[in-house]
Amino acid sequence: MARKFFVGGNWKCNGTTQEVKKIVATLNEAQVPPPDVVEVVVSPPFVFLPLVKSLLRPDFQVAAQNCWVKNGGAYTGEVSAEMLVNLGIPWVILGHSERRLLLNESNEFVGDKVAYALAQGLKVTACVGETLEQRESGSTMDVVAAQTKAIADCGSNWANVVLAYEPVWAIGTGKVATPAQAQEVHFELRKWLHANTSPEVAVSTQIIYGGSVNGANCKELAAQPDVDGFLVGGASLKREFIDIIKSAEVKKSS
Ligand code: PEP
Repeated sequence: MARKFFVGGNWKCNGTTQEVKKIVATLNEAQVPPPDVVEVVVSPPFVFLPLVKSLLRPDFQVAAQNCWVKNGGAYTGEVSAEMLVNLGIPWVILGHSERRLLLNESNEFVGDKVAYALAQGLKVTACVGETLEQRESGSTMDVVAAQTKAIADCGSNWANVVLAYEPVWAIGTGKVATPAQAQEVHFELRKWLHANTSPEVAVSTQIIYGGSVNGANCKELAAQPDVDGFLVGGASLKREFIDIIKSAEVKKSS
């Protein structure tokens, strides 16, 4: 089964109204492969979601960068999945390593968030990835398997989940994983899904790579058989994001 290429842009905590409008204008005029070849989902900070949704070309979609673990109420500073649905935001990124590490989000908390967001009808980009210390101690697969298990344990509807493998040591560091390193973990994750969910889920789930992807390294990574796209941070604010979207063409010729 051919998995559709997926390119997510994580704008993190960046941008002014003017800058956001400029990024959207650049995306809107870009010539990119059609939506049956690549799914493009950009993720601005919460405050810019309605603006971006209203201005963005209809073949690109919008994601939030987080949402609360259950319905709204006395949770100051949080945004609920229901609010995103109400605004017509179809996607949310959950379990990003910056939230896991800086805000102490545990595997279980991320799993609960994924389950709740899916139950509200959102699609989820769920992030997993090891630190440098964990890689160097040889525990990469144990770490990402435990993170993925917490997501699977909450009864995930995998049809609405994109799994993002984002090694922490590669995020925002300029130190990209080699294509072989990315392929190795993606292959192992697919094996894990096969053994722990179902063969169908293993074959159909898009597993995307994130960590210092840019216009220069995207094609070689995209050519790996188990790399189904990217989650892009820094480069998603720049023109080269368009080149990253275009790397989907590599799959057509492989
Ligand atoms: C990210 O924020 O998910 C990310 C991969 O960042 P960067 O591309 O900047 O490494």
